[in-house]
Amino acid sequence: MNANPKHVADPTRLRNQNLIGGQWKAALSGQSIAVENPANEEIIAQVPRGQQEDIDEAVKVARATFESAAWRKIRPIDRGRILENIARKVEEHAEELSWLESLDTGKAISFARVIDLPSTVDVFRYMGGWCSKLGGTTPPISFDGKEYHAYTRREPVGVVGAITPWNYPLALGSWKIASALAAGCTMVLKPTELTPLSTLRLAELCLEAGLPEGALNVVNGYGHEAGEALARHPDIDKITFTGSTVVGKKIVEYALGNMKRVTLELGGKSPSIVFDDADLDQVGLGAALAVFFNSGQICFAASRLFVQASVYDRVVEAVAAVASQFKVGNGQDTDTMLGPLVSRKQQERVLGYVQSGIEQGASLIYGGQKIGDKGYFLQPTVFADADQSMKIAQEEIFGPVVSIIRFKDEVEAIRLANDTTYGLAANIWTRDIKKAHRVAHRLQAGSVWINCHGVIDPAAPFGGFKQSGWGREVSEEGLAAYTEIKTVCALLDD
Ligand code: NAD
Repeated sequence: MNANPKHVADPTRLRNQNLIGGQWKAALSGQSIAVENPANEEIIAQVPRGQQEDIDEAVKVARATFESAAWRKIRPIDRGRILENIARKVEEHAEELSWLESLDTGKAISFARVIDLPSTVDVFRYMGGWCSKLGGTTPPISFDGKEYHAYTRREPVGVVGAITPWNYPLALGSWKIASALAAGCTMVLKPTELTPLSTLRLAELCLEAGLPEGALNVVNGYGHEAGEALARHPDIDKITFTGSTVVGKKIVEYALGNMKRVTLELGGKSPSIVFDDADLDQVGLGAALAVFFNSGQICFAASRLFVQASVYDRVVEAVAAVASQFKVGNGQDTDTMLGPLVSRKQQERVLGYVQSGIEQGASLIYGGQKIGDKGYFLQPTVFADADQSMKIAQEEIFGPVVSIIRFKDEVEAIRLANDTTYGLAANIWTRDIKKAHRVAHRLQAGSVWINCHGVIDPAAPFGGFKQSGWGREVSEEGLAAYTEIKTVCALLDD
């Protein structure tokens, strides 16, 4: 069944333009980038191929807005109201945005409706609440025994550059936009060239919601052009990046020039750990969703599944059975569970990993095949008898492939789970409450879920240990990363 087209925005209606200072403008070079529907390989829109000169213009506008009285003097409570208005606008347009996100990324619209859209709305609403609560402290000063009055201020870090990936462009872009605006920053955002459409529509809605022109600017383009120009820009005070670890490391180099603040949300190779005392009726579906959701294109996909030896065969069978029942298809069909991968390049990359799993001796239990001649569909793929030495167990695949590995006891499970350069997330399946928390404390991961997975909330810090990133997003910690703390100290004695 196809989604109801009466709510639908025509993606070609979205202008082939960047948003700079409230004005829609083509790239100064006049060049554009074609945007493809990964389900049928048709071109659905064009966006500008922004370059250095477009970034320069946007940064200038964002700086002028940041310095302007019009932006600085908005009362905190009124800035919160603007964010709340954006949340409402997104709510009003939720069906249209879900459709656009599904068309552009390929993802199942049924999940865009219940995951991507609510998390977008929630983060604007949550951060809107912080605008009027972002205060400082009054540290008691001992120093030389004289009387002082000291206080801290949380000031906006300044002009923020944001770079986003293709898997959750709307929700992940909103994390950055909402946090930056709540802190009083202005922003230049470069969405991914692969799935930029929902970001452009969101920017339109932000203006309609009363966001002052120039506070949010969107420049489309390729990473090595517009992205690099933004990350290197000497008048950008902070860069916030979500994407691969390889590019994250480049961002660090680019940022060095003016030592801009850096937040990085990077890749992962997250473990699911199933103990033999787990509720095995839940585990098959839980562990399968933890890796296959969004066709595995999730930074916290639990692509390594560690199972205690005594229940290993049963869990392998259960996960394969669930995988075989997932409907792979066009994201606009409301019964689709897994849409296509985002691009041919990504499909080929994932198929390369499937091949390496076979060559390195893992047992292919289910899947591993492309589906159809058009679009980048791939079966969910289950490998058993995998071990840590295999590429499929070490490298981020970013596709629907799980490697199932045996362990004998708690100590070994923790050792194997931590044996990776990544540290984004993990989940644990057990009925033993002491063991659950003991293991959670030992795992090197930014988020640990017990008997569940992927519980992402604007109030809960999100980010990675090790090479999964620097800093945290959303939550009070994520918001603080868009501020600088200033200590002001006054001598009171004569
Ligand atoms: P990517 O690193 O290829 O691209 C991400 C963004 O960076 C895009 O906008 C791209 O244009 C830009 N970019 C590419 N090269 C650049 C350069 N040299 N300079 C500046 N910008 C550049 O990542 P992707 O393929 O879009 O997304 C998948 C990756 O993102 C995976 O590794 C995934 O784990 C990660 N991711 C992480 C999180 C998280 O919160 N930790 C969330 C989603 C995705």
